[in-house]
Amino acid sequence: MSQLLEGKTALILGIANKWSLAFAIAQAFRREGAKLILTYQGERLKRSVEDLAGELGEPRVLECDVTKDDDLAQLTESLEGGRLDAVVHSIAFANREDLERPFVETSRAGYLLAQEVSSYSMVAVARAAAPLMTGGGAMITLTYLGSTRVLTNYNVMGVAKAALEASVRYLASELGPRGIRVNAISAGPVKTASARGIRDFSKILQVVGEHAPLRRNTDPAEVADAAVFLASDLGRGVTGDVMFVDAGFHIMGL
Ligand code: NAD
Repeated sequence: MSQLLEGKTALILGIANKWSLAFAIAQAFRREGAKLILTYQGERLKRSVEDLAGELGEPRVLECDVTKDDDLAQLTESLEGGRLDAVVHSIAFANREDLERPFVETSRAGYLLAQEVSSYSMVAVARAAAPLMTGGGAMITLTYLGSTRVLTNYNVMGVAKAALEASVRYLASELGPRGIRVNAISAGPVKTASARGIRDFSKILQVVGEHAPLRRNTDPAEVADAAVFLASDLGRGVTGDVMFVDAGFHIMGL
């Protein structure tokens, strides 16, 4: 059977451990024949990501903290001469206290940090990667329903995701003429290290599992398969979009 990403090279940012959505995406991309390049945030995660790389056919693994312009410049430099066909941005961060106290109490620094890591970084990554996508390609980021709905304890991250989704539209508009498509996948809640930072996350899983049209939670492999679609030629007509992979939860009212 032919593989959907055969002959394509994908840069995947955001693997921390085996529960990371980016790891599920990397597994699916490899299954579909993509050549991978992975990044990790910093020294603390180097070992973990290098170990996981072993399960992914030993791709290149590079350090990249998206808050550091030098790291992003270094990333472009190390990849120069090669061609990228897909980029997965699976990165977010907010201070735990900003996910616990009332939104109105968000500090200036906490607000800016969430925006910098979770939203602006997509713009910075797109700028670093686009020159390498000489044959066009696909950029994919991960978002959540808290961008358009008020979800308890999501707070400052919801605002960052709203900015991220708007950035996807502006990037799609600008990069489209170069054949680069930019989309977001809005995943249902999945228990990952980042999700554990959200207070009462297990309650969210329970409510979604009970009320989503499919009456269950989201499997990371479903998010990964949607990313395969968007990165592959099957997704060639889709750009600037937010695709929900959440067992249908986002359509529900009361
Ligand atoms: P995760 O903790 O496994 O991944 C988050 C990643 O962000 C980590 O790899 C971390 O190293 C990286 N990161 C944070 N700051 C960084 C920086 N300065 N530089 C480089 N990397 C940095 O958790 P996850 O749930 O897999 O999150 C991945 C994406 O999916 C995030 O954007 C998250 O908001 C989104 N998402 C998650 C869920 C969920 O329920 N888990 C639902 C919808 C969307």
